[in-house]
Amino acid sequence: MKEKKYADVIIDISHEKVDRTFQYKIPEALRETVLVGTSVMVPFGRGNRLTAGYVVEITDQAEFDEEKMKEIYSLSKQKVSPSEDALKLAVFLKETYGSTMIAALKTVLPVKREVKAKEKKTIVRQMTGEEIRSLLAESIRKHQTGKTRFLAALTEEKKLPYELVTGKLHIAPSTIKSLISQQVITVETESYYRNPVRLETGRREEKKLSNEQQAIVDTVIADRDAGICKTYLIHGITGSGKTEVYLSLIEETVKRGRQCIMLIPEIALTYQTLLRFYKRFGDRVSVLNSSLSEGERYDQCERARKGEIDVIIGPRSALFVPFEKLGMIVIDEEHEPSYKSETMPRYHARETAEYLASLKGASLVLGSATPSLEAYSRAKKGEYELFTLTRRLTGGRLADVSVVDLRKELKEGNRSIFSRKLQELIEDRLSRKEQIMLFLNRRGYAGFVSCRSCGLVMKCPHCDVSLSQHRGGKLVCHYCGYEMQEPKKCPSCGSPYILGFKAGTQQIEDQIRKRFPGAGVLRMDADTTRRKGSYEEILSSFAGEEADILLGTQMIVKGHDFPKVTLMGVLAADLSLNDSDYHCGERTFQLLTQAAGRAGRGVRKGEVVIQTYQPDHYSITLAANQDYEAFYEEEMGYRELMGYPPAEHLLAILFTSKEEGQALAAAEETGRILRNYQEESGRSDGSVIGPSKAAVSKINDIYRFVIYCKEKDYQKLLIYKELTENYRKNLPGNSAFVQFDFDPVNTY
Ligand code: ADP
Ligand code: ZN
Ligand code: ZN
Repeated sequence: MKEKKYADVIIDISHEKVDRTFQYKIPEALRETVLVGTSVMVPFGRGNRLTAGYVVEITDQAEFDEEKMKEIYSLSKQKVSPSEDALKLAVFLKETYGSTMIAALKTVLPVKREVKAKEKKTIVRQMTGEEIRSLLAESIRKHQTGKTRFLAALTEEKKLPYELVTGKLHIAPSTIKSLISQQVITVETESYYRNPVRLETGRREEKKLSNEQQAIVDTVIADRDAGICKTYLIHGITGSGKTEVYLSLIEETVKRGRQCIMLIPEIALTYQTLLRFYKRFGDRVSVLNSSLSEGERYDQCERARKGEIDVIIGPRSALFVPFEKLGMIVIDEEHEPSYKSETMPRYHARETAEYLASLKGASLVLGSATPSLEAYSRAKKGEYELFTLTRRLTGGRLADVSVVDLRKELKEGNRSIFSRKLQELIEDRLSRKEQIMLFLNRRGYAGFVSCRSCGLVMKCPHCDVSLSQHRGGKLVCHYCGYEMQEPKKCPSCGSPYILGFKAGTQQIEDQIRKRFPGAGVLRMDADTTRRKGSYEEILSSFAGEEADILLGTQMIVKGHDFPKVTLMGVLAADLSLNDSDYHCGERTFQLLTQAAGRAGRGVRKGEVVIQTYQPDHYSITLAANQDYEAFYEEEMGYRELMGYPPAEHLLAILFTSKEEGQALAAAEETGRILRNYQEESGRSDGSVIGPSKAAVSKINDIYRFVIYCKEKDYQKLLIYKELTENYRKNLPGNSAFVQFDFDPVNTY
């Protein structure tokens, strides 16, 4: 057999120009240790600077003259090496979503570098109690107060925690050292894992499953046992017992010696949810989310790798936890946009989970009250097995929903943000000491400032977005953080009528306080939840009835039961309908359905008021009726008509550069190449649109152009990607950076 002497290495530099492998010789001494996946240090570039990289292939074939080939310098000490599965996942991400290999590798490594284990030190007595007592007597005689304290403690305990000795007992390190050298004590060091969650798990809780629930568990587990691994979709309203089903499914899978990944949108990862898993699985479950320290993340992955935990709960990145015997992936609230990554590689957790499940022979279970059109259409086609949970199990009845036409209110002289109906109901609930939630369904902020005379909108000088009004007369850019003082006069026409469009949550809070002066109000939005733990604080003080009204953005409609809430007001339901994005009808339906599910979780029946300027829009009327099927049919009809996903597939190609001309030139040339290809291959069913300026045409002084490609067949979009990549690689003079986004969830 020929010796495998050469390694193909991906260099740890994030640029598409180096997005290929470079071949290095493996020095004799490293032949045993350098494997596929190993992270290494190699000389790179003209200056031969030592640069980190990952070995992705080992071969006996030299790609070029061996004489000219550089050698691997050493193993990289700090960096974590991806496993074989992780490498396969990285290749999948690169090929499916068009990212550089290095970005894909970094995504599949849940931790990038090794973090030293935490250590616990214990002082252990090496002498008998008798011997210690005689030493103690001597030290009392010599007035050695520190040593006396220490020895006195040692007469009582054979082992003492190190921190106790140096802390509470105030023993100097020199005293400890001298006792060690006299062989009175030794110090034992034990490393342990950082545990991010300390929960009083209490008694194990298990409900007897309903027939509907049990049937799901039986089917999936019977498939598992028969070696069939497929994808299931559980459609069930909030409170219909989906989580209880996940718990049983996971438990059965764990019993069979396999591990499970439970994905939950970060925002829904609440204390309550975690507690349910801890009650069932105790120390065998752990969590991975953005508030963990690097050391905590590292340790959870180590525990997973060594098989010390069976279940990991986390947002989409938890998919990459290295379980050897993965048996099941559950994705709760599968429709959530946060399952799609917004940075390269722009992967979708559902699709990536499908790949991972097939790689590992695992089952994939999706659940939602309002399934994504993608998942539901696949279930209808029979690609996923569909289960429906139809009943709420806690007895709480569905709320009464009414839709209020804000145009009519205005016509009849009511200019307030509260319709007369909502006002009356709020007063009624306040007088009965019941709680109210008010929901503003907008993404981020509005609160922009414009001139009423000439129409000028105050914009960020670096980004093509309007500045948001904050307290204290400040205007802030939410993309780059730019700040300026609010102008007194219009900078363009000099008019003094330059005013804020007052409809952000902050302004609404002010209005609530004015109109209902006696009421306690809590506000929850990106501003009030910036600090770690503040999200939980607001929720728990509302749950503790420290306030009557909780006002907030999307954050308030997820998770959490508030039995005292009997009124949910949606302030302007069509705000989310006006996004320039083909998903907005679906988002609006999902948000309103979720909001409606928030009221009346307790004994009392709840009411929901949806205020809107478009009372006839199907997203609003069908959410009010809680009619998912009818909504699916309507929305799918629209997607088919327009050729949007899931009817067809969409690829956004984004060109960015500091030089506007270069970004545009690269985009235009790409557009030509793609159209040529389309004509030459004689195809008429797809289309290439653009290039055009992106909706946000500049961020941080970087210009943005976009091309959209629509195709029924995903594979054809991959050809467009390849054509674009090939063109870019052969264009050394152009600075434009190219990114791909397949089936994007945002508009560019
Ligand atoms: P979902 O995840 O669909 O919102 P959950 O699993 O959280 O639903 O269930 C909603 C409520 O019903 C929870 O309080 C849960 O404890 C309870 N529940 C779920 N299944 C059962 C059951 N089989 N018997 C009794 N209560 C149940
Ligand atoms: Zn003006
Ligand atoms: Zn900016």
